[in-house]
Amino acid sequence: MNPNPTPPIRSPYRKRRRLIGDRGGHFLSRVEGATAANISACYQCERCTNACPVAHFMDIKPHQVMRFTQLGWREELLASTTVWVCLSCEMCTTYCPNEVHVAEVILHLRAMASRSTETPKEIVLAEFHETFLRELQRFGRVNEFWLMAALGLRPGVARAKMASGDWKKEIALGWTLLRKGRLRPIPHRCRAMRGIRRLYRRRRREGA
Ligand code: SF4
Ligand code: SF4
Repeated sequence: MNPNPTPPIRSPYRKRRRLIGDRGGHFLSRVEGATAANISACYQCERCTNACPVAHFMDIKPHQVMRFTQLGWREELLASTTVWVCLSCEMCTTYCPNEVHVAEVILHLRAMASRSTETPKEIVLAEFHETFLRELQRFGRVNEFWLMAALGLRPGVARAKMASGDWKKEIALGWTLLRKGRLRPIPHRCRAMRGIRRLYRRRRREGA
């Protein structure tokens, strides 16, 4: 008998337990229903990924997002960098030969990720997303001065900027923009505030 047995190799692709409610068909039809995207029609030609300007920074490429959705791999999608890195430029949707609304699906997954308990892989981008929506709800339009100030005060962002030293560069840049009149510290409220808040309330009810 071998006194030093070789330890078993742990595969990085070990299957994870999946929730019954998120098995393939169920998750797929839920996302298709919410986005009106015909994800089932995707045949993995990869044109969406080739057209995407930031695919290089994504851990799950746009065509893989479609495949993962077909398979119901919800956890992997919500924990990906892709949902935060996407610019919503819609190049993927434009180039898809099957008219699959890829960008709409990624946007929907981002909204799901922001409501989930999963820690986002891209903390700064996730915080930016949250802060942007909050500022929009406050003023009805985004004021760059208040957006950057609110973002810089978010704990995750403040920690990351202190660690990288980026805060010095940002303060210098903000001061330059302020002197040149490119930043407006006094925010203007949009006249359609009531309608915007109503939209937010409706989205919250639908997301609950
Ligand atoms: S919408 Fe997102 S996924 Fe599609 S091409 Fe633009 S960045 Fe890439
Ligand atoms: S371009 Fe369309 S059909 Fe091709 S992989 Fe992307 S979503 Fe699927």
